[in-house]
Amino acid sequence: MNQIHRRRFLGASAIGAGALLTGRAASGRPAPSHGKAHEGDKHRGACVISSGNGLRACDRAWDLMQAGTDPAAAVVEGVGIVEADPNDMSVGFGGLPNEDGVVQLDASVMHGPSQKAGAVGAIENIKHPAAVALKVLTETDHVMLVGEGAKRFAIRHGFPEENLLTDKARQAWLNWKRNASPKDDWLDSDQIIRLKGQQHGAAGPIPFTYGTIHCGAVDQGGDIGATTTTSGLSYKIPGRVGDSPIIGAGMYVDNEVGSAGATGRGEAVIQSCGSFLAVRFMEQGMTPTEACLAVLRHIDSKTKRKDLRDERGRPSFNVAMYALRKDGAFGGAVMRGGDSFSVRDTTGPARRVQCAVLHQ
Ligand code: ASP
Repeated sequence: MNQIHRRRFLGASAIGAGALLTGRAASGRPAPSHGKAHEGDKHRGACVISSGNGLRACDRAWDLMQAGTDPAAAVVEGVGIVEADPNDMSVGFGGLPNEDGVVQLDASVMHGPSQKAGAVGAIENIKHPAAVALKVLTETDHVMLVGEGAKRFAIRHGFPEENLLTDKARQAWLNWKRNASPKDDWLDSDQIIRLKGQQHGAAGPIPFTYGTIHCGAVDQGGDIGATTTTSGLSYKIPGRVGDSPIIGAGMYVDNEVGSAGATGRGEAVIQSCGSFLAVRFMEQGMTPTEACLAVLRHIDSKTKRKDLRDERGRPSFNVAMYALRKDGAFGGAVMRGGDSFSVRDTTGPARRVQCAVLHQ
C-alpha cells in the first residue's frame, strides 16, 4: 500500500513537520466526524467485507456462510484464495520476503461467539497461515504461536511444508538488495553489467511495500468472525512481526459490537491498538466509517516522529481500516490517497466500495 524507497528513506533528512494536524480535537482525542453519509451506514443483515484485494475472498466466505459455515471458518477459507495466489505479492505464496530472502507470514483469526482468537507470527514455509491461526484458535488454549514452533504445530496438523518464494518475488528481493545501501558491494540497477544474451530481471529500484488481506463477516444470526493474513512489510528485519497477527491491532472481534481490521503500516496500528479501538468507537455509537476515520485520526495524533510526516505535516505512510457492525453496517477508510474495499451481501457478487479518506 504505502511505498517507501529505502535509499531515499535512509538518505532523507527529517522533513519539517509542524503540527498541522487536521480534524483533531485540542485534547488530542479523535474529533467526531461530521456525520457524512456513507454507503455502508444503512446496510443491514449478513455481510462480508475485506480489503480491496479480497473480492474473491468475500464471495467464497459468503457462499460458505450461506451453506452454514461459521463466519470465522468462512473468512479463513476465503482469504485462502489470496494466500495461494502467487500474483498477490503481499500475502502467502509469492509474498515478498524479508531481508534475508525468506518469506515470513503473519495471520490472526477471531471467533465472535467464543471470543477466542488464534494467531501465528513469522511462520515460514506454510502457505496458509490463517488456517494455522484457526487451528491455534480451535485446538489450543493459546492465542499465538510464532516462528519455528508455529511451523512445527502446522506440520503436526497436516499442513504441507512448501517453498513460498516465487521466482518473481526472488527477483524483486534481489533487485531490492542491489538498491538497499549506497555502501554495499551490489551494483545499482542502472550499473549492472549486461552480458550478451543474458536476461536480467532487475528493472529498477524496488520500494518497500505493504499489503495484506483482512476479511470480516457477520452471518444472519449476528455472529461475527474475522481474519487478517499477510507477508508483512517487504524486506523486513527477519523476525519482525507486524500488526496482522496482533489481536486488537490488525484484527479484532467483539460479537456484541462488530469487527475491525487494518492494513498498511503495522507499527502505527500496533501502537494505537487500531482494530480494538475501532470496535470500541462503534460501541460508543459511531458508524463503521466514522470509527475507521476516528482510528486514523488517533494514529495521526500519535505520530510523533517528524520523519513519518510529509511536508504538510500529515503522516507520510498509509493505513487502511475496515469495520463491520453486528447489524451488518460496514465501512472503510484510508489515511491518505484513495482506495476501495470489497463487500459481499445479498445484492450479488462482491463489489468495490470507496474508502473514506482522512487526508485527501
Ligand atoms: N500491516 C501489515 C504489516 O505491517 C502490512 C500491510 O498491511 O500492508 O505487516
